[in-house]
Amino acid sequence: MFWNALAVIVTGLAILITVRQGVGYRLLYDLDHVLAEDLDEISLNLREERGLDFERLHRELDRKARGHAYHQWFVLFIDRKGDAVWSSTGAPVLPRVITPGRETETLTTSGYRLAYRELAGARERAPIVCVGSSVKFIQRDMASIDRMVILVAAVIIVGSPLCGYILAGRATAPLANMMATTARLRPSEMDERLKVRGTGDELDQLAMTVNGLLDRLAEYLKQKHDFLANAAHELRTPLSAIRSSVEVALSGDRTVDEYNELLAEVIDECSSLETLVNQLLLLAETDADRQEVVGDPIPLHLVVGRAAEMFQGVAEFNGVRLKVEHLPEVVVPGNRHYLRQVLSNLLDNAIKFTASRYVHHAGPISANNGHGTRGEIKISLQPDWEQRVVRLLIEDNGPGIPKEDLPLIFDRFYRVDRARVRGIATGGTGLGLSICQAIIHAHRGTIEVMSKVDEGTTFVITLPLVTADNPAALV
Ligand code: ADP
Repeated sequence: MFWNALAVIVTGLAILITVRQGVGYRLLYDLDHVLAEDLDEISLNLREERGLDFERLHRELDRKARGHAYHQWFVLFIDRKGDAVWSSTGAPVLPRVITPGRETETLTTSGYRLAYRELAGARERAPIVCVGSSVKFIQRDMASIDRMVILVAAVIIVGSPLCGYILAGRATAPLANMMATTARLRPSEMDERLKVRGTGDELDQLAMTVNGLLDRLAEYLKQKHDFLANAAHELRTPLSAIRSSVEVALSGDRTVDEYNELLAEVIDECSSLETLVNQLLLLAETDADRQEVVGDPIPLHLVVGRAAEMFQGVAEFNGVRLKVEHLPEVVVPGNRHYLRQVLSNLLDNAIKFTASRYVHHAGPISANNGHGTRGEIKISLQPDWEQRVVRLLIEDNGPGIPKEDLPLIFDRFYRVDRARVRGIATGGTGLGLSICQAIIHAHRGTIEVMSKVDEGTTFVITLPLVTADNPAALV
């Protein structure tokens, strides 16, 4: 603000001084012009009228001098030594400053502007003719211009910092507001947002951008907070179960069978804990190493075929048929270990939920639900060579997922029906699908779900293909 005001003042003063000097120079220039014209007129008179009657000329010049009394106009005939031989009425006595010459010269002396020249035809004794005029009227004009300049300069000197202060205040007020609001924000208090004034200017756009960032940050912090709270909650359940089993074991004498049973419970809960901790670690890994996940060309058909083989036994044990429909050869950029993890999670879910539907209807480990239908899971790979993507479909005819839960199932720790799932010992952690999503996103792919209650669920994973003309997919 200070520099701005200084720049305005310096520029303003420079303009004023230039204008003032320009006007002064112009007035003097005009006066010189008039005096030179008068000199020319006298010169013409002298040249045209040979044998001139000097008396008559003096009378005329005197008359003119009286007529221009306001400007104190006068004429002098001067000898070579610089003394005035004849002077018109009202002519002042001037110091000897005039030097003879054929060219018209001008000078200012004792408050008078003079134009003089040696004229042919002038009296031999006084060949130099000097026409003069007072510069008082120019000085008067300049004095009133100076008064105006001083007034305007004063206005600029006082007004510029003042206006600068007011304008800068107006311009920086929203910024100060923004700084105050951002300074108040804390990770635990992220509700406040920057004020958008509705002017649509750059500051408004900045406020909207920062607000967008704050929204994302708040959402991220909330997710982290929920994640931690859920993780702690999930860890507490098996830990309390272990504690109560151990307490029961220590509370009195037990038979060997009872001890065995209690220790088996402890081992069960330890496995749950292990699964949960492994899943949490996997999530942290995929979140942190997004860039490092993808890299090698992976023959997806082999990974899918291998996973299907591995789960065949579990599926049969649960009375579910696992069918591999179509596995054309496809290569995707990725990480074999993580892709296997995705397939395991999806197949594990498909088997346990599909089995849960049919087991409930027809008793444990049944092949059908009593109406001839049986649990079935289909796996297929559908390459789209034009779009350079491959779709991996895992379809089941399990219980399906209610419409309102579909958008939430990829959220961390989200389970559709906790009570029911836990009740039939298929209870997972609710982390499986969020792990799948994190891994697939790290592979620059997408994972979608389509489901209808009592009809089944289909997960569709789309991954970029590595083809001869698309090796870039590996980068
Ligand atoms: P969980 O560890 O509970 O399996 P997931 O994240 O893998 O957690 O799945 C989240 C929820 O999505 C499950 O609790 C379940 O309700 C639902 N779900 C996932 N896969 C299926 C499926 N194939 N059929 C029906 N419901 C499913």
